Amino acid sequence: MEDKMITLRGKPVMEGIAIGILRFLEAGEPAAEDGDPYIGSAEAMKQRFYEIREAVAAECEVLAERARVEVGQSEAEIFATHRLMVLDGDLEDAVIAGIDAGKGLADAIREAGEGLAAMLAAMEDEYLRARAADAKDVCARLIAALRGERTGVSRLDVPTVLAAVDVTPAELLQSDRTQLMGFFTADGATGSHTAILARSLALPSAVAVGELPDRSLEGETVIVDGFTGEVIVAPDTRTLALYCEKQAAARAERQLEETFRGLPNRTQDGYEVQVVCNIGRGEEAASVLQNDGGGVGLFRSEFLYLESPDFPSEETQYRVYRRLLEDMGGRPVVIRTMDVGADKQVGYFGIGREENPALGYRSIRICMDRPEILCTQLRALYRASVFGKLSILIPMIVSPWELCWVRERAQEVRDELRAEGIAFDPDVKLGIMIETPAAAAISDLLAKDADFFSIGTNDLTQYALAVDRQNPRIERFYDSHHPAILRMIATVVENAHREGKRVSVCGELARDTSLTPFLLAVGVDGLSVSPPYVLRLRRAIRECDRSRVEIGEFLKK
Ligand code: PEP
Ligand code: MG
Repeated sequence: MEDKMITLRGKPVMEGIAIGILRFLEAGEPAAEDGDPYIGSAEAMKQRFYEIREAVAAECEVLAERARVEVGQSEAEIFATHRLMVLDGDLEDAVIAGIDAGKGLADAIREAGEGLAAMLAAMEDEYLRARAADAKDVCARLIAALRGERTGVSRLDVPTVLAAVDVTPAELLQSDRTQLMGFFTADGATGSHTAILARSLALPSAVAVGELPDRSLEGETVIVDGFTGEVIVAPDTRTLALYCEKQAAARAERQLEETFRGLPNRTQDGYEVQVVCNIGRGEEAASVLQNDGGGVGLFRSEFLYLESPDFPSEETQYRVYRRLLEDMGGRPVVIRTMDVGADKQVGYFGIGREENPALGYRSIRICMDRPEILCTQLRALYRASVFGKLSILIPMIVSPWELCWVRERAQEVRDELRAEGIAFDPDVKLGIMIETPAAAAISDLLAKDADFFSIGTNDLTQYALAVDRQNPRIERFYDSHHPAILRMIATVVENAHREGKRVSVCGELARDTSLTPFLLAVGVDGLSVSPPYVLRLRRAIRECDRSRVEIGEFLKK
């Protein structure tokens, strides 16, 4: 056993330690057949295609309902999306064209699915790339239906860790979750629907481990470290004991965090701070509430643009914002206007190739050339504002005149709505992201015009340290704890408070509990984190006594 141990390194998806028996999941990939047994007349094959298409679409509906009841609305959306993919006209055209070209039905479906998946995999946008796995899943299910098979492992006899090239959301949901401890995949992305579902199901998992272990290792013990993305197959006795301890500690931590549910985010010395959530889709509202978040501190509205084939209309946006505000039931909701550009490219914006996209044509800079994009979004936001407590956040502001320009557009939009007799909340606050060194340096000036600040430490770190946040080769230089960043945060808070304005932190730094004492001691008013981190952060806040924090130590490092 000792010499069989192998360690694979992937990307962590969901925290926790899974220990179980290794089992390879073969389903999910539409494996090539030796010949296609589903060959008949073109008419018969087309008719059969439409029959199985209906059956799989109906199955997706059932799965969506099951996901809604068992996990939540956002997971149900995954299967609703699959249903749309099954019924997609492009997929249908490709299958019919394959049949007309003389292929058997299974081959026609497989090739149509591969074509769709390849097209998605080649997309620049990470979200759409992650949908390639969904396309394959959908076609695998069509072929399974053709063969009269089911996907997933509905019965597991022992605590199991699944390994696969990629796992589909349906396979996860249909697996026996009393015995499913975790999973890892050779491919896969941390932003895929499978990853989203894994987090909701709290399944420790890792993706993109590269190569899968040899099949002969099926039945061995395997460990998935969802904190680091490491997978250890056939661990030696010492390693197994170490991970058993780590697992027990992680479980105890989670249980302890649960005891902080419902408590105020108040330090030992009585300082109360707002803890809200970062989300990218309206459906994540459920996760905010489930995790006891105080509202939404950052809604990255660009996801709406990333997911649409064309500019989302005012009506589409209005419905999304309204629903989010309603779901939040009066809790504060900060919606950021679209931050398209840099690492979030959207084809129909036609930005084209740039030498330095992070320093390029992005968010508000695009809107200045095409104000209709901002005005459409502002109209949708103001119209939705009567359904909750909305604030609007503007990204990438570096100069006061830019904010002034946005304020003028906002005024125009409000005047228009008033003239049209459309209701809106006149008290909607207009804040800005502080995510460039320039904005931090003139935060005293910006604080006069902005209603609030939200510090985006992800970009602030990239721009202040001249380290591309996307480049894995220089990841070790990307240090959000750098005193330059912490000094900027302290200065920004001081300048904002001098003008009586609130400051929150919405970058990833906000969930770093080793910095919670510093952030609270310098007077940050709010922290916005991914929903699963709310309770952990609350615990750190409640354990903090600001009078004991040596701010100077953080600023020197
Ligand atoms: C940030 O820059 O810190 C931020 C929150 O925005 P994004 O990560 O979307 O750029
Ligand atoms: Mg940013």
